[in-house]
Amino acid sequence: MLYEIRTYGEQCLKDKSENVTEITEEIKTLLDDMVETMHEATGVGLAGPQVGVNKRLFVIDIGDGVVRKIINPEILEMSEACIESDEGCLSVPGIYKKVRRAQKIKVRYTTVEGEIVEEEMKDFLAKAFQHEYDHLDGTLFIERISPVAKKMISKKLQLIKKETEKKLKK
Ligand SMILES: [Zn+2]
Repeated sequence: MLYEIRTYGEQCLKDKSENVTEITEEIKTLLDDMVETMHEATGVGLAGPQVGVNKRLFVIDIGDGVVRKIINPEILEMSEACIESDEGCLSVPGIYKKVRRAQKIKVRYTTVEGEIVEEEMKDFLAKAFQHEYDHLDGTLFIERISPVAKKMISKKLQLIKKETEKKLKK
C-alpha cells in the first residue's frame, strides 16, 4: 500500500515520535509499505512522521543494494569531521540546500527481526541516517541550513505550506 507523504506545515512532522515497544505484524507491514512509498517517490529515505505515524522508525535505500528498515535508532557517536552537501526531503518538495552532517556515525537500532545491532556508517549513508533520525525528533533539514539559505527559501516554503493547508482542507 502506498502512503500519502505528509508535507511541510503538517503537525505530524513537528511532533516527537515514540519508541516502538513491540514489532508486530502491523509494524512490519508499515515498514514494507514505507519502502514501497519511498521507492515510488524515488526518495532515499522515509521516516514514520512523513506518513503520519509518529513512531521511531524509518527506511533507507541509498542504492547500495540494501534496503534498511530501522527501528528505535540511537546515534551513539558522531565524528567531528563533517560533510556538507545538498539535501532534499520528500516532505519539502523542490527544495535542496546544503546541510552539514557528521561524516561518520556509530548507531544502534533494532531490526525487523527484533535484533539489536550496532553499526558504523559514513558518508552518504551516515547523512541519510542523520536526516531520517531528525524526523523522529520533529526536525526538518531546512532547520539546519544557514540563515542566508533560509531567507532564500522562505517564499518557496510559504508556498508549500499553503499547498499543504489546501490539501488538508479537502
Ligand atoms: Zn526528510
